[in-house]
Order: sequence, then structure tokens, then C-alpha cells
Amino acid sequence: MYTRQICRRVASGASRRSFASAASKESSNSIAYLVGAAAAVGGLAYYNSESTNKVASLEKPKDVDQALADLKQIVDSTIAAEIAVEKEKFAKYWPRSIMILFGPPGAGKGTHGPKIENLMGIPQLSTGDMLRAAVAAGTEVGKKAKAVMAAGGLVSDDIVVGIIRDRIKEEDCKFGFILDGFPRTLVQAEALDKMLSEEGSAVSKVIELSVPDSVLEERICGRWIHKKSGRSYHVKFAPPKSMVIGEDGKPVAESMKDDETGEALMQRKDDTSTALVKRLQGYHGETVPILEHYAPNGVVKSVNANQKMNGVWSEILAALSR
Ligand code: ADP
Ligand code: ADP
Repeated sequence: MYTRQICRRVASGASRRSFASAASKESSNSIAYLVGAAAAVGGLAYYNSESTNKVASLEKPKDVDQALADLKQIVDSTIAAEIAVEKEKFAKYWPRSIMILFGPPGAGKGTHGPKIENLMGIPQLSTGDMLRAAVAAGTEVGKKAKAVMAAGGLVSDDIVVGIIRDRIKEEDCKFGFILDGFPRTLVQAEALDKMLSEEGSAVSKVIELSVPDSVLEERICGRWIHKKSGRSYHVKFAPPKSMVIGEDGKPVAESMKDDETGEALMQRKDDTSTALVKRLQGYHGETVPILEHYAPNGVVKSVNANQKMNGVWSEILAALSR
């Protein structure tokens, strides 16, 4: 089957051109390649058109397998080179896709962000994850952020704007990125707009995960996280396969393991009802006005996040499409 695809590609105009140029780069043995390829194509035509018995009675030309392997390598590298050229064009001339995943703590940003990442092929940038990594590494930023984060307060605008400014310059952001947990204040939103306007781009979509405060305590207090990947679990709504419930009716901490890696899950220090009260105050007071800021651009899409995860995901998909 694969060999037939190769033959078809080689026969198509565009691929023939690229094939010829790739073959010419292999100047020392291009003729051998082409002869091998022709032998391969001829051999295949024969295999396809004759009865099984007749084919079985044939002695296969010795170098067909090698010629096919060489041909496959050339075609594969040619296609890869063409894809790279197209990608460069997109990276250079097309605006980046810049999304904000918006919602209170526990709305589902960490649950759905990775799925959007896979779908769109752009990275999710979580300022919370970056700050937690800085705290764990004991960097200057981490030292400044540690106490305020544990209490559920907001880290200073200067710090988070600086983190994002550097992060979006990285290679994996060249087609765009998904912001999770940023911007959280109007000052941050304006700083973001300014840095994007310097390259002629702007926020292209804000997906608001709308959910009443009343359901968030249960979500936040039952959340377990795989630190390395950011995967979110929940003791009731999304338990890991390994979860064992103890005699006290609570999950046994040692049994909480990541489904994919088997590594231990952890609970965040600020995932407590006390810190949540403060985080929600910050959300309503300082973060929600950002929606008004972006609404006039027509980029804000609201999703009902107070339903089963699959339902939320369907609405997100609808909101993402043009
Ligand atoms: P955020 O990143 O917005 O703070 P998460 O995606 O981590 O929120 O979700 C918080 C907790 O709620 C997690 O434990 C997650 O498994 C759970 N959760 C997420 N979406 C839903 C939902 N639609 N219904 C029930 N639980 C959910
Ligand atoms: P949440 O579950 O509240 O969405 P995050 O993981 O996004 O949590 O953030 C955790 C903490 O990190 C916040 O409570 C806050 O202290 C800090 N933080 C994250 N992003 C920002 C930001 N953009 N501005 C200020 N503080 C931030």
C-alpha cells in the first residue's frame, strides 16, 4: 500500500519536481536512485497486474527492496522539506493565533487547555504553572511570589508581564499560544495588547468558562494534579484509575497516581476553601473587567462550564471554530 502511495506521489507534478531536485542533491548516486526507482515502479506494476501464481514464479529483482527504501527516504525528506517551507511562510507572514482561556479557579482551564493545545498545535502558557515552577526552583521571582500565592493573592503585574513577554518569544509560540491565568488584571491586559500591537497582532479569541462560584469549592478541594504535565484529576469527577478509598471515606494519598506515567499526584497548597475565597474575590474584582475590555472586538465567546466535561468540550469546540 505504502509503495503505491510513493509511486503516486512520484508521478504527481509537484512531487516529481521536488523529487528531481532532491535526487540532484544526492549528485554522487542520483542516477542509481532513479534507476532503482524505475526498477521499483516497473516491478510494482508487474506485481499489481499479474496473477498471484505468475508473480510467485518470478524472481524478484535483487535491488528492488533497496531501491524502494532509498526512494522512500528521498520522498519523505522532500515532503518534510516542503512542509518546513510552508511552516516558515505561516510563521513569518500570518498573524499568530492568540487565545485567552478565561475563568475562575476550578472552571476547567487546566482540564480543557491541553485538548485545545493538541487540536490547534499551539502551546498553553499557564502563569500559575510558571510561577509554581519558579517557587519550586527558588528563583528571585519565586521568592517574591511564594507567600502571596499561598494566600491566594495576586503576584505583581510587573512580574507576570515580564514572564509572558519572554515566554511568547520562544520558538514554540511562533504560530500562536493559549494564555491560561493571564491576563488577570486590566493593567496586564493592556500590557499584553501593547506587546502584541508591536508585531501587528492582537488577541484573537477569549474563551470564557462560565461557572457559578457555588460549584467551585467542591472542584478545587477535590483537585489532584500531575505536576510535570499539569494534568488535573478530581476525587469525584475525574478520579485517577489507581485511586483507592480508605476507611475514612477519603482517597488514600499514596494511591493517587497519574494515569499516563504512574507518577504521584499532588494537591496544591492554595487549593483550600480559605484561599479560594480570596482567589474568587480577586477574580470578580480584578479579572472579570477584562471581558468588558475585549468585548468590543467581538472576540469573547462564553461557554457554559457548569455541565459534564464532554458538554463543556463540545461548546469549546464550537467557540473555537470561525
Ligand atoms: P482551572 O485550571 O480552571 O483552575 P481545572 O481544569 O483544574 O480548573 O478543574 C478544577 C477541578 O475540577 C479539577 O479537579 C477537574 O478535574 C474538575 N473539573 C473540571 N471540569 C469539570 C466539570 N465540568 N465538572 C466537574 N468537575 C470538573
Ligand atoms: P487558578 O486555579 O486560580 O486559576 P493559577 O494556577 O492560574 O490558579 O494561579 C495560581 C496563583 O498564581 C494565583 O492564585 C496567583 O497567586 C498567581 N498568578 C497566576 N497568574 C497570575 C497573574 N496573571 N497575575 C497575578 N498572579 C498570578
